[in-house]
Amino acid sequence: MAGIYIHIPFCRRKCHYCNFFSLASQKLKEPFLTALKKEIGQTRDYLCGEPVNTIYFGGGTPSLYNPLVLQEIIDLISLVTPPATRVTSFSGEAEINQDVNREITLEINPDDITPAYIGRLKQTSFNRFSIGIQSFFDEDLIWLNRSHSADQAIQSVRMLQEAGYENLSIDLIYGIPSSSHEKWQKNLETAFSLDVPHISAYALTVEAKTPLAWMIGQHKSATVNDEMQADQFNMLMNKTKEHGYLQYEISNFCKPGRHAIHNTNYWQGVPYLGLGPSAHSFNRSSRRWNISSLSKYIDGLNKGEPITDEELLTSVQKYNEYVMTSLRTMWGCNLEKINDELRMTNDDLIRKHASLFVKQGMLTENSGVFFLTDKGKLFADRIASELFIT
Ligand code: SF4
Repeated sequence: MAGIYIHIPFCRRKCHYCNFFSLASQKLKEPFLTALKKEIGQTRDYLCGEPVNTIYFGGGTPSLYNPLVLQEIIDLISLVTPPATRVTSFSGEAEINQDVNREITLEINPDDITPAYIGRLKQTSFNRFSIGIQSFFDEDLIWLNRSHSADQAIQSVRMLQEAGYENLSIDLIYGIPSSSHEKWQKNLETAFSLDVPHISAYALTVEAKTPLAWMIGQHKSATVNDEMQADQFNMLMNKTKEHGYLQYEISNFCKPGRHAIHNTNYWQGVPYLGLGPSAHSFNRSSRRWNISSLSKYIDGLNKGEPITDEELLTSVQKYNEYVMTSLRTMWGCNLEKINDELRMTNDDLIRKHASLFVKQGMLTENSGVFFLTDKGKLFADRIASELFIT
């Protein structure tokens, strides 16, 4: 199985913390679509014929487009990619499927959801929505420079649910300097009250060259407080557990059986094709990435010039990537998989490097599979890097 990610590089305005490739100007929306269709035709071989079971529109803000226009992209992908014959259903059972059983996700911003927009969605095959809420407090949303209000955030979820869409995920951000533990707790309570099966929650990070980094550098904003973030991460883990969500990846929580298939595939080493400027692709033997410039992306596709760089992955890179991603998930880092699929036999070395973290209560081992403990999840990147080989 494989997935396709489409990067839509437009936003209504730029959020202060964001370093994703996207532009606030929408004047190239039409030329971008034409170029994207060309890219779909040219790149399908990258997946080596693997059936596609997930399509994910991210960005940027894909909901800036009319859903019927995005449906044309879905139809084109369906034409040029082999149909999946079997997919894993949301309940975890394998089932025979037609194209309709693909998980097809649309990232949406709350201010784009109106009755008219939902009416158009109903004519498409989107069956999962990831809603960029971030906070249910207006003052946080203003601080982050989000384009929606807290009320729009709640209404967007309710409108989609009333329209019969229940496969919803909401994005939240914690550790916002303008926020507090009380507000984070209220954000979580509001999220639980909306009864969505999936929540993604990320620590606010200060990325270089963002307005947030500038504001902090100029002392116009308080900086991110590591201790506050750690406390709010612990609150997140505890409260989601109390409400029946599984932490299946460090930043992702779902009701049993309701994990995002597309994102889980990334973490389990399933191939994916990324389309659009700055999108990345992976097909088990190589990684490649598209140019992070919209004008160069459009020009390149129009003129038949390359828009992609590619690197073949060495065994060491594959191993390090597996350790980094698998440790973040509830399925853990599996020595048998490292031996069988990555053909690396360094169990003793991993155990030696892991032993310190096991002693410190940050890792546990169960039948050859290493898992981060809740304490270890706070230091996931550092622990993974200690298990890397060079
Ligand atoms: S809407 Fe999303 S992609 Fe666009 S600027 Fe904000 S965080 Fe970045």
